[in-house]
Amino acid sequence: MDLILLGAPGAGKGTQGALLAERLGVPKIATGDILRDAVKRGTELGLEAKRYMDAGELVPDSVVFGLVRDALDAPAAAGGAIFDGFPRNAAQAETLDSILGEHARRVDAVVQIDVPDEAIVRRMSGRRSCPDCGRVYNVYTDPPKAEGVCDACGGALAQRTDDREETVRHRLEVYRTATAPLVAFYERTGRPVHTVDGDRPIEQVQAELLGRLRP
Ligand code: AMP
Repeated sequence: MDLILLGAPGAGKGTQGALLAERLGVPKIATGDILRDAVKRGTELGLEAKRYMDAGELVPDSVVFGLVRDALDAPAAAGGAIFDGFPRNAAQAETLDSILGEHARRVDAVVQIDVPDEAIVRRMSGRRSCPDCGRVYNVYTDPPKAEGVCDACGGALAQRTDDREETVRHRLEVYRTATAPLVAFYERTGRPVHTVDGDRPIEQVQAELLGRLRP
């Protein structure tokens, strides 16, 4: 199954995508994670991407396409993938269709996770993640056992530079103008779009998603 997760930054795509990947047995391809890893490793691509990411802008399509092609060529993705944070605009959606077409695949379903802007801003200001293992916490709703320390690996938790309030508001605007119109694109082209209320506990959202995706 090839599944796309749409939703504003902080709507829970990463969390729900990881749970779905486990349940459905396909890898999650998250372009934001791949880009952050490149930034951390200080690669040329990472250096180019960083200035866009810090400003809450989209990284150029040409950079992202290479990453997605590589991820889809990996043997683990041969049976399908869950796309988190990609596509982000019309050109990316069309390119994904053609890359999947080369593998004789198509987008089987689209999930839209809906969360009001103000709830997003609140969530993101509390979000902390572990740069070592990637685990995500929220200082208000899902804090680590010891302040600032990852429960899973002991890493020092950090706030993403693009999770500052002003940058979050800009990212929401970019989502509204560039990404949200993809819902209409997928509906128009006959791919089922499942919209779920993401302003609820993680388990409830996951249960609804599994119910919708497993008829
Ligand atoms: P995310 O973790 O998905 O919120 O992505 C963090 C940042 O990475 C975004 O604000 C963009 O700067 C960049 N990014 C991630 N995915 C894409 C994409 N598909 N196209 C362009 N930029 C992206």
